[in-house]
Amino acid sequence: MLKKLFILLFLVAIYAPLTAQNEDYARKILKTLCSPEFHGRGYAFGGDSLAAEYLCEEFKLLGIKPIMQPFALTANVFDKDAYIVAGKDTLKAGRDFVVYPANQSVNCNIKFSKDFRKSDSMQVADITLFAVDKLPPQGIADHQNKSAKFYVSKALIHNKKRASIHLDAQLKHGYITHNIIGIIPGETDTFKVITGHYDHVGTLGRDAYFPGAHDNASGTAMVMDLAREFANMSPQHYSLAFILFSGEELGLFGSYYYTRNPYFPLSKIKTLINLDMLGSGDEGIMVVNGSVLKDEFDFLVNINNTNNYVPIIQSRGEAANSDHYFFYKKGVKSLYIYTLGTYKEYHNIYDRAEIIPMPAYNGIFNLVKDFVTDF
Ligand SMILES: [Zn+2]
Repeated sequence: MLKKLFILLFLVAIYAPLTAQNEDYARKILKTLCSPEFHGRGYAFGGDSLAAEYLCEEFKLLGIKPIMQPFALTANVFDKDAYIVAGKDTLKAGRDFVVYPANQSVNCNIKFSKDFRKSDSMQVADITLFAVDKLPPQGIADHQNKSAKFYVSKALIHNKKRASIHLDAQLKHGYITHNIIGIIPGETDTFKVITGHYDHVGTLGRDAYFPGAHDNASGTAMVMDLAREFANMSPQHYSLAFILFSGEELGLFGSYYYTRNPYFPLSKIKTLINLDMLGSGDEGIMVVNGSVLKDEFDFLVNINNTNNYVPIIQSRGEAANSDHYFFYKKGVKSLYIYTLGTYKEYHNIYDRAEIIPMPAYNGIFNLVKDFVTDF
């Protein structure tokens, strides 16, 4: 009995650190990507390049030689002034207001009409102010309009008579960003591919940045974690490719470019799993294309039925909502996994590494690992 207890304690002792280790590694990657030094991984202050360099260094530490694939994009960037003075209060970007991503620069004073107190919006020339109870998610655009829209917390402007608005918007043309590809050769030249995007929406002015822990430092961290896992295993039958895209938030630009300029033929991809938004998961996961790619989806569900990795696996049809899409359109069997549940911070300044729960992290990690190994 005592001996059995010792064996049990020994197993607990070696097993617990092993499971924690993966999440610790992922959390380290996630925390770094979400830190202020990476400026929200957009195109202000070279945030995307800094993130790309960091991820390449991490690939090297795993013994995987990273390939950087450059491509050009156009991005509207807010990297200088972004503030509103309403009455005597200075409203803070991100916390008190957000902007329409295609805004042009604005420097003006607005006197609020009497009706503004009673309504939810006000327009003066090309500028529209929306008074909102909850700020909408901040996006990023690849163009600039000849107008500007601001979403401001109602409580901070409805009792004011005037405001001065300051926003510097810079449309950067021909900005060079990078996809990152890490390859682990297997016994054949057919690939299993795991993808995620590392870019996010960047900054709103000099001070506010969007950490993007959920979208998609979480998925990036798992891609790296899986690369680390397979790098430490003996070679698989299939070759493995880990691809981290840029330009996703602008409209899937990185994966679009990659599918037109692949490093190995797309016809050589057996399956692709895209990971984007893994911060939640207490209510399970959604598999995009699960209802069209039956064999792949059933295999995932069987793995989960045997191991109880995640609470529930739901499926839906095709959707152009992440980087699996253009692969799928080119005939690659591509699934996209995102989490379901209570964590909802999204494209705001509060989506931080410190608070993201990732309750299903280990479950999804094991699910994807088993799928890649066994399918
Ligand atoms: Zn995303």
